[in-house]
Amino acid sequence: MLDAPRSSPSDRSLVSVRDLKMHFPIHGGLLRRQVGEVKAVDGVSFDIAEGETLGLVGESGCGKSTCGRAILRLYDPTSGEIMMDGTEIARLPQTQLRKMRPIMQMVFQDPQASLNPRMTVEAIIAEPLDEHTSMSKAEKRERVLELMDAVGLNRAFATRYPHAFSGGQRQRIGIARALALNPKFIVCDEPIAALDVSIQAQVVNLLEDLQRQFGLTYLFISHDLSMVRHIATRVAVMYLGKIVELAPRDALYGEPRHPYTQALLSAVPEPDPDMQADRTVLQGDVPSPANPPKGCNFCTRCPQVMGICHEIDPEFRELAPGHFAACHLYNETSPRTEAPRHNEPTEVQQGDL
Ligand code: SF4
Repeated sequence: MLDAPRSSPSDRSLVSVRDLKMHFPIHGGLLRRQVGEVKAVDGVSFDIAEGETLGLVGESGCGKSTCGRAILRLYDPTSGEIMMDGTEIARLPQTQLRKMRPIMQMVFQDPQASLNPRMTVEAIIAEPLDEHTSMSKAEKRERVLELMDAVGLNRAFATRYPHAFSGGQRQRIGIARALALNPKFIVCDEPIAALDVSIQAQVVNLLEDLQRQFGLTYLFISHDLSMVRHIATRVAVMYLGKIVELAPRDALYGEPRHPYTQALLSAVPEPDPDMQADRTVLQGDVPSPANPPKGCNFCTRCPQVMGICHEIDPEFRELAPGHFAACHLYNETSPRTEAPRHNEPTEVQQGDL
């Protein structure tokens, strides 16, 4: 197994993921036998240093949300290792996993769907305290009010129900609940995707403020490359269950190496039309994770595909300090032979990501 990419500040890794796989069985036929598997996450490795934000980007269905959930053990991974604050949790039994829950939390995409409409804000935020602490009722109430202050919610609204709040306020409730047990690590799974554009920046700024205040570490999952550029320390790009490029933010946005990253970045709208780089036109559709292509996962769409790409899965290698990519273009020994293209060009749009 390759050495996983280390985080740039790299004082201490809070989260270390090694060769993580999350495959879901496909059942078919009369006897419902397993006839295949969806390789949603197919061997990803990375570290996240304490206090940093790792952005995880890619198109819908590339496996980024599944990856985040598997790291928190909301799924049982098929294989691989997950070190969380010094404890290996990939195969930890549920009883022991429960003790780890306070340090790792999640902020969900849709605050409307993730909050129980029959519970008051106070009850929602206090729920983790009920589960994991023996605080008295008065202590819990005080803690809830502190958390409401921290996320910018008016204390007077503690007895209201989620429907009385706007989308942005509901996401603040979700963030307050995630903070209740003083976590170290939070997976933010598209936390702003369901919000109006006008309030997305407010929620991202709040997450940044909370990170500074409480020393939080984030895995920030998003299809919004502009927002990830704003918040992330480093960025990992995922395609069809694999990380194809990982680099410090400025290196990834300034000098993307992988053809897929280049295509994604060329699809980000620029406010100044003169600054808009030529768009990279990709070949074909995203293959099914149940039937990924042989060789490089991106070979059916890559504008720079070579013969070897259809045969051999490229190694994920370090091209510059902290800058990793999986592509034969950067392998000195790879022959540069053009392979025929099979699909009509399609353009990656920011909205598709
Ligand atoms: Fe493109 Fe080949 Fe690199 Fe894959 S390995 S990204 S197909 S050039």
